[in-house]
Amino acid sequence: MQRVIPKLLTWYAENYRKLPWRETKNPYFIWISEIILQQTRVDQGMQYYFDFIDKYPKINDLASAPEDDVLKTWQGLGYYARARNLHKAAKWVCDVHNGQFPTTFESILELPGVGDYTASAIASFAFNLPHAAVDGNVKRVSSRFWGIELPIDNPTFLKQTKSLLTEFIPHDQPGNFNQAMIELGATVCKPTHPDCENCPLQTECSAFLQKKTHVLPIAAAKTKVQHVRLDYFYLEHRGETLLYQRPSHGIWGGLFEFPVLQGFDGISSNDKAMVYSKLEQLFRDRDYTWTCQEFEHKLSHRLISAVFWHVKLPVSDSLSVLENYQDFFEGITLILNLLNIHEAGLTFPEKLKITNIHEINQFPLHKLLLKFVNS
Ligand code: SF4
Repeated sequence: MQRVIPKLLTWYAENYRKLPWRETKNPYFIWISEIILQQTRVDQGMQYYFDFIDKYPKINDLASAPEDDVLKTWQGLGYYARARNLHKAAKWVCDVHNGQFPTTFESILELPGVGDYTASAIASFAFNLPHAAVDGNVKRVSSRFWGIELPIDNPTFLKQTKSLLTEFIPHDQPGNFNQAMIELGATVCKPTHPDCENCPLQTECSAFLQKKTHVLPIAAAKTKVQHVRLDYFYLEHRGETLLYQRPSHGIWGGLFEFPVLQGFDGISSNDKAMVYSKLEQLFRDRDYTWTCQEFEHKLSHRLISAVFWHVKLPVSDSLSVLENYQDFFEGITLILNLLNIHEAGLTFPEKLKITNIHEINQFPLHKLLLKFVNS
């Protein structure tokens, strides 16, 4: 590789995309951009990056913001644990490092949500430290360049790649080297149809020389997709509805949604039909009007079929929304018990919020809820 590094760096200097986080040495800005780019492509991530640094120009602004506010700024990017970790890490920097972003690889690695790749990227881009940053792009380039015939999620593959890159990373410009490898993977050595004719590594690339660019890298084994069924209840009464905040851990942690019936996918279609007919009976008995909307939503390892029950409670009803809510869900629980369905369960919210239906959008919502709210 030694011989092609100068070509790689020249190629990068002439071809790199001028992105705002490449024009700064501010480790806080670089960190924000790296966390966002783990979730989305450059073009989509740009607006989020500007939103974050406009809203929280210093790390202590981020640390002192309410968590809901940070989740709202992150809304739409998915995998909300990253946003919560950003927030936690900002607090950590303020508490432990007095608001100064840590300057060594080891101390950056201590931040919540920061792994080897992100710590190496920040250390090399902001502080010129020789740590090889191995993201998906770099894995692809390395696998092809050195002809590493191991699945890219195999720990030995990562170890081998990291050690080869560490051996060759130039100590005078480690940041540019990392950026160049990442950029090459993103724009030239693409997953399909790599543009080998215009690649600065071509003369020593094993996959090119052995005509194996279509074989490498060896993909990670596919994770089985789990099918999940969710029934949401959007109750409307006098212009208000109910939202609850999901627990801070797990999927969509800390985000708001309507009360939901889940685990319902495990029951037989007969039982399901019975629940639905009883449910509709329940609505009729109480003079509720309702409509149903169905959505499919894909997450990395889950395929969600969601039904949104928009149930309007009578305006003349003298009970408060909250009382109606308890009554409503007691009805559903009764149905499930009567039919002896124990697999399904209602999420009974602890952090219940009654909100105006026009203000739902002010809460941090996950993409599935947004699909419904914006439909
Ligand atoms: S020569 Fe082709 S396969 Fe090899 S690194 Fe360059 S683009 Fe990728």
